[in-house]
Amino acid sequence: MPELPEVEVVKIFLEDKLLHQTITGLEILNPKSFIGDKKDIIGQKIVEFSRTGKQLSIYLKSGLILLVHLKMTGQLVLGNFVLGHPTKDATKNLPNKSTRLIFKFGNKLILFFNDQRKFGWVKVFSPDELSIFQKSLGLDIFDPQFTPGYLHQQLQKTSRPVKLALLDQHFFAGIGNIYANDSLFLAKIHPQTISKNITLLQAKKIHHFLIEIMRQSVLSGGSTARDNKYVRPDNTFGQNQFFFRVYQRAREPCPRCTTPIKRISLGGRGTFYCPKCQKLPAKL
Ligand SMILES: [Zn+2]
Repeated sequence: MPELPEVEVVKIFLEDKLLHQTITGLEILNPKSFIGDKKDIIGQKIVEFSRTGKQLSIYLKSGLILLVHLKMTGQLVLGNFVLGHPTKDATKNLPNKSTRLIFKFGNKLILFFNDQRKFGWVKVFSPDELSIFQKSLGLDIFDPQFTPGYLHQQLQKTSRPVKLALLDQHFFAGIGNIYANDSLFLAKIHPQTISKNITLLQAKKIHHFLIEIMRQSVLSGGSTARDNKYVRPDNTFGQNQFFFRVYQRAREPCPRCTTPIKRISLGGRGTFYCPKCQKLPAKL
C-alpha cells in the first residue's frame, strides 16, 4: 500500500503534468470506482492538488473536489508513468483488464485509474462534504500544526502501545508501518511502550525523526517494501528502502549496536525493534 511519501510523490508528479488542464472526458468501466456525477467534472479545470495523509485531493474550478484513494492496488498511469501499485507492463495495451476509470484532458493526456482488487476509488466532494469526511482524520505529518506538542497530546489519549497509536489515522494522518517502526527505533522507544506514558521529550524525538524520514523518503521517490507495492513514476522502484533502519530487517544487526533486530506482531502488523536500544520502561 502506498504510504504518505509515495502519495506525496504522486501529487508532485500530477501537479507537474495536469495542473490548469481541463477534464474533457471520463469513461467509467467499473461504476464502484467512481462516486459522483461525471457531469460535475467534465469541462472543469484543475486548479490545485493537495494531499491529506494518503488521500489525494484534486480541486476543480467549480469548487468541487475529486478525492483519490489508491488503497491496496490502485494505480494511476499517465503516458509512460505508473503511480501507486506496480504491475508488469502497466503502461502497455491500455485500457487493460484492471482499468476502472479513464480521464481525458484538454492537452490530450489520458490518465488511467487501474485497480486489480477494486478497493480504491475516486469520489466527487463539495468542500463541506470533504471536511466532514476528513474530520475524523488526525493532522497530516507535513501540516504546520503537527507539532511535538500535538503529537504528545494525541499520544496521551490512549493506553494502547505507542506503535499502534502512531498508526491510528484518527490521531495522525498518514503514518504508515514503515515510518512508525523506524521513528521509534531512532527515538529509542520500545514499540510496546504505553502510549500515554510517552513523555514530552520522547514525543519531541518521535516528531523530529518522523519528519526527517518522511522528507528523506519523498526526496528519494518513496519506498518499495519487500512486497514491491510501490513504483516511482518512471517505473523504477523507490530507493528509500535502502534507508530502512529496522523495518523488515528481522534478525539483521541493529545499525546502532549490532544486536539482532526482533520482529513481533502488534495489531496484526509486523513490528521491528532492537531489544537493546529500545527498552520497555521498568515499571511495566
Ligand atoms: Zn540496537
